[in-house]
Amino acid sequence: MTLAVFACDPDRSKGRRFAQEPAPTRTEFQRDRDRIVHSTAFRRLVYKTQVFLNHEGDLFRTRLTHSLEVAQLGRSIARSLRLNEDLVETIALAHDLGHTPFGHAGQDALNECMLEHGGFEHNLQSLRVVDTLEERYPQFDGLNLTFETREGILKHCSPTHAQALELVEPGGVGHRFLARSQPSLEAQLCNLADEIAYNAHDIDDGVRSGLITLEQLQDVALFDDFRRETLAEFPHLQEQAQGRRLLYEAIRRMLSSQVYDVIAATQSALDAAAPRSADEARQLPRMLQFGEAMQDKSKVLKKFLFVQLYRHPKVMEMTALAKQVVRELFALYLSRPQEMQGRFLARLQATRAEVDEASAAARVVADYIAGMTDRFAAREHERLTGLKLL
Ligand code: MG
Repeated sequence: MTLAVFACDPDRSKGRRFAQEPAPTRTEFQRDRDRIVHSTAFRRLVYKTQVFLNHEGDLFRTRLTHSLEVAQLGRSIARSLRLNEDLVETIALAHDLGHTPFGHAGQDALNECMLEHGGFEHNLQSLRVVDTLEERYPQFDGLNLTFETREGILKHCSPTHAQALELVEPGGVGHRFLARSQPSLEAQLCNLADEIAYNAHDIDDGVRSGLITLEQLQDVALFDDFRRETLAEFPHLQEQAQGRRLLYEAIRRMLSSQVYDVIAATQSALDAAAPRSADEARQLPRMLQFGEAMQDKSKVLKKFLFVQLYRHPKVMEMTALAKQVVRELFALYLSRPQEMQGRFLARLQATRAEVDEASAAARVVADYIAGMTDRFAAREHERLTGLKLL
């Protein structure tokens, strides 16, 4: 199938930071994807929390399964819109690489610890992982990915951070946050696929964990319309023992309706704007979108999940403990850097020569903690404090 004129073309990539010969059998974006799949940070995603802590149950989403679901949804939408499926897959698999252990609780705690040292932001950290922290190549730090993949990974960025990026890489991935333009259509698609994926799987995990119920979900039209539609078609699913099938069928229908809605709304926006290249599409308003009605329904669902699931007392209880673990680890490593493994201790010792030594040291500790899996962080905390919090 030929790509649309506005899709990213690997042969016209804006390139890598360190020039490399093309691969004989793979496009540049396929090569990026393979580098991500083989990275250390990618393997760790399996033991990192999305909403539920990793050890709370084997059946809940982790960052890895979440990333795979984002890739699946993204690819199937990309194919319909004739966008570059490989690039979408690549960005989707990489989009959460910079996440701390313990989900948003970990990120919030680490950001608080880093407030005086430039803060901590997971999107920026994902870029840092692929640009700097992965150590796999003899000639350079990081994975040396293409501009288009890095652009997609950096989903948000504050103006201060964008200016700092612009200084080291003029016209690079920080530029659009200053110029207020959009990323590629493939990157925009990943953002939306991310949202569709977590809205659906958080309903699934939330109901199966018992923290939210189908009765509560009756207030959420986006889900409940499909639950009722399913029951009308398959009345036997009313029985208690069929609860799972009812849940899955309603979610399946909800996912499909969102995917078809995005394809239709985006296709008509693209038809109207008719960009003639990927760069022209970057100058337009955001093209990847829900239709208006779906947008409203999606907001109701997000709000429901925020109040009923992410702020559920049981989740909040774990959140508080997870934050304590991160805060205490941060303070401990700063005062006892020899407790950090291998290269992080060496990196921290090397910061003595830097102008802003305190911030440089704090950044090394933040990188160390951000890379941890949930269970490694919990174990380290127990080893260093004697307390078993999680
Ligand atoms: Mg995500």
